[in-house]
Amino acid sequence: KPVVAIVGRPNVGKSTIFNRIVGERISIVEDIPGVTRDRIYSAGEWLNREFNIIDTGGIDIGDEPFMTQIRQQAEIAIDEADVIIFLTNGREGVTAADEEVAKILYKSKKPVVLAVNKIDNPEMREQIYDFYALGFGEPYPISGSHGLGLGDLLDAVAQHFPEQVEADYDDETIKFCLIGRPNVGKSSLVNALLGQERVIVSNVAGTTRDAVDTPYSKDGQDYVIIDTAGMRKRGKVYESTEKYSVLRALRAIERADVVLVVLDGEEGIIEQDKKIAGYAHDSGKAVIIVVNKWDAVEKDEKTMNEFEENIRAHFQFLDYAPIVFLSAKTKKRTHTLVPVINMVSENQTLRVQTNVLNDIIMDAVAMNPTPTHKGKRLKIYYTTQVAIKPPTFVVFVNEPELMHFSYERFLENRIRDAFNFVGTPIKIIARARD
Ligand code: GDP
Repeated sequence: KPVVAIVGRPNVGKSTIFNRIVGERISIVEDIPGVTRDRIYSAGEWLNREFNIIDTGGIDIGDEPFMTQIRQQAEIAIDEADVIIFLTNGREGVTAADEEVAKILYKSKKPVVLAVNKIDNPEMREQIYDFYALGFGEPYPISGSHGLGLGDLLDAVAQHFPEQVEADYDDETIKFCLIGRPNVGKSSLVNALLGQERVIVSNVAGTTRDAVDTPYSKDGQDYVIIDTAGMRKRGKVYESTEKYSVLRALRAIERADVVLVVLDGEEGIIEQDKKIAGYAHDSGKAVIIVVNKWDAVEKDEKTMNEFEENIRAHFQFLDYAPIVFLSAKTKKRTHTLVPVINMVSENQTLRVQTNVLNDIIMDAVAMNPTPTHKGKRLKIYYTTQVAIKPPTFVVFVNEPELMHFSYERFLENRIRDAFNFVGTPIKIIARARD
């Protein structure tokens, strides 16, 4: 998917525009993988073209001076985006900070669409002419607060979308990525995995920008490690900022089928691990929890169980994810990871038989009656699997509102018990039967 970034000095309305563009999609689609809690990166859609959008204003650069922050946000946009929306404020006119941003964007050679925000009514339109001076051609008048002009702006943005930005891999190829905070051992684990294999093609420049994927084969199965480059430390200032690495991780998750959440067994679980694990869960991809540096942990026969309980307590939402303990450094137990990757990858594409599925749901209902609300009882007519990756089930009912979260959870568990869905989230959607 093409990536669009919104750039501009503070207070021009970047987040408002971002929410407008994303919000219109949220009303169409129920569940969007990759939508993060802090929402600096999200999916959008315009005229049936899907894209991802970044609000660079949401990237926290830290205590740098004002101009440095603006400059770094612009640089991130240039690195990451296919098209840049340069946002300005029509009420304040062209400022020195706008000119500064313009200079950076000008050098980048990325397509830039200039938008003038806060043009809330037609009388204000003449304010936009000053903005021609920024040198990006026609300025698009918009109003974030009134939702005006966004259509024309997105038309202009979509014209710059590249034809094909994603590298294509065979359907049979297992695409996985490794995410985790810095220093948990992601790069070491990649090396450990590749060290044992013959690398057939190394570092195929995958897609856009500097995402580098590493394909390899083992025992007749093809794999691709998504965005191996993202795990390298390039030493740029902004790479160390947490949100930037989150952005990078989200992009890798989006292109992968299986996500390895890597933890540091020596240091244990910290808050940042939970956040990262949350992104993995939200994505709907298959997830494996990898506890690395197991060599450095002093162990007795109980240690592994205790660590596992600790993980389960911290990551309740990932209760479907298998846990693998290993050491990338000594390569001890690293061979146990590959079969688990194969297994979860298979599970996320599992299709169950409709009649078996409905028998299970009927048994479940007999065991635990459906919830009632205001004297009305939920009735389940029929259940069918509508999608894989993740396996998604539509339950046809009398009134979807009567499907309580806890009951949905109960049905999910019954389905999990009956079929082998280890490692993959499953989705249940209650829909009214017409
Ligand atoms: P990344 O930032 O997640 O890619 O982490 P690296 O792969 O660069 O590893 C960070 C540090 O942890 C390095 O000093 C590694 O040598 C060390 N490390 C990685 N894996 C292991 C492991 O299994 N055991 C131990 N003891 N150290 C490890």
